[in-house]
Amino acid sequence: MIHPNPESPLNYLPPLQSQYDVIVIGGGPAGCTTAALVAEYGHSVLLLERAQLPRFHVGESLIPETYWPLKRLDLIDRLKQSAFPRKYSVQFVSDGVKESAPFYFERYNQHESSVTWQVNRGEFDQMLMDRARELGTIAHTSAHVTDVIFECTQAVGVKCRLLNEDGGRSEREIRCRVVVDATGQSAFISSRRGQRDADPMLKKGTIWTYWRGAHRDSGKDEGATLIMQTPGKKSWFWYIPLQDDVVSIGCTGGMKYLFDKDAGSVEAVYDRELTRCPAMQKRLVNATRCTDFFTTKDFSYYSREGAGNGWLLVGDAFGFIDPVYSSGVYLALKGGEFAADAIHDALQRSDLSGSRLGQWQPLYKQGIENFRKLVYAFYAENFSFGMFLKEHPQYKSNMVDILVGDVFKPGVGDIFDAMGALKPAMDMPLTRPAMA
Ligand SMILES: Cc1cc2nc3c(=O)[nH]c(=O)nc-3n(C[C@H](O)[C@H](O)[C@H](O)COP(=O)(O)OP(=O)(O)OC[C@H]3O[C@@H](n4cnc5c(N)ncnc54)[C@H](O)[C@@H]3O)c2cc1C
Repeated sequence: MIHPNPESPLNYLPPLQSQYDVIVIGGGPAGCTTAALVAEYGHSVLLLERAQLPRFHVGESLIPETYWPLKRLDLIDRLKQSAFPRKYSVQFVSDGVKESAPFYFERYNQHESSVTWQVNRGEFDQMLMDRARELGTIAHTSAHVTDVIFECTQAVGVKCRLLNEDGGRSEREIRCRVVVDATGQSAFISSRRGQRDADPMLKKGTIWTYWRGAHRDSGKDEGATLIMQTPGKKSWFWYIPLQDDVVSIGCTGGMKYLFDKDAGSVEAVYDRELTRCPAMQKRLVNATRCTDFFTTKDFSYYSREGAGNGWLLVGDAFGFIDPVYSSGVYLALKGGEFAADAIHDALQRSDLSGSRLGQWQPLYKQGIENFRKLVYAFYAENFSFGMFLKEHPQYKSNMVDILVGDVFKPGVGDIFDAMGALKPAMDMPLTRPAMA
């Protein structure tokens, strides 16, 4: 990536060495955070990203706890100066109609971390990569990792295809002491090892697109995320207001329900669901769709092993749950922070075992579990958060903690003792085909 300012030191790429302390595969939030913080410790870091930056990516809504890893990266001032809309709250709508009162984060915590952002991921991820470079990471874009090199069980480097100055491609083999897989949903290492398990309860898909001119609430509510469930919890819409009057609006539902072969085109299904969501429809009366439709499915999965000798997984490469609570970027940033500390510790001790590199992962998995259980509750038939909190008001703070992302706090998961083991409703096509 050539930085927009030709004088920028970020444009200087030194010749590749044959060996680094750490190679990070993937330049999303997880990879850039890991690389930035490992480089800050003083280790040599090479980051390889297959795309040209800035690149398009779904996942635009941040949650308040992202503040802390972003502060450690010293990026809060840059975010404050950005054009990204401020997000003060989230608002839920049930049955496509009933709007609950907005949930303002600062009511529960009077700290500036309670105001977060709705980001354009191209620009946000570029900001993270720039920061990783400033801290000493050598970051190559258009650099596709094609293999991780193992000697016995030890990861010792990668094979990659790089873009040359003349536009040609060259294959390189580069060695390192630690390989970080931050390849997002590709989950490079666990996919190759057959260790990527889909969550059988969350077989969901999403159709999303971008609109201009959609209705926005005023004042502090202008940047709110709206989560609107349709009747019978068959699907839900996100509404994420972005800069330049653009709004990201996506519809998530069971894979059979959204992508059944008899359901028609993705546009027809999206329109079908919009008609089931009057609260969203009324926001689009004067809006124009400004992009094509995008789809993704079966995105909730876990990687069975999170680390091994000389390698570890971070961010979506480790696992992803569901977009409903906007937890993905936070987990990627926080995981990057955990991973960087563990890598520094491992390099200092010259102990590159999986247990040393993955020492943070048991706690991290507990945090993911807290999000997962709240996701299951969201999709469970006959469960209402409002009713639950009426009966168990003592758990309101636990719920708030999870919604803002404070999922690693001791005791936060106690709420699930009262909630019980809720399961998402079964995924069915809208109209079942007649029996032969
Ligand atoms: C439908 C949907 C909606 C979402 N909405 C939200 C939201 O509102 N808020 C939120 O916080 N999260 C959201 N997420 C989740 C969020 O997008 C991810 O959790 C987040 O991007 C994870 O960051 P990452 O760095 O792990 O992976 P990514 O951001 O995916 O980055 C991985 C990078 O690795 C690169 N790469 C992959 N393979 C290779 C290779 N072989 N060689 C080199 N580079 C490679 C890719 O090009 C990519 O840039 C959503 C997810 C989905 C599916």
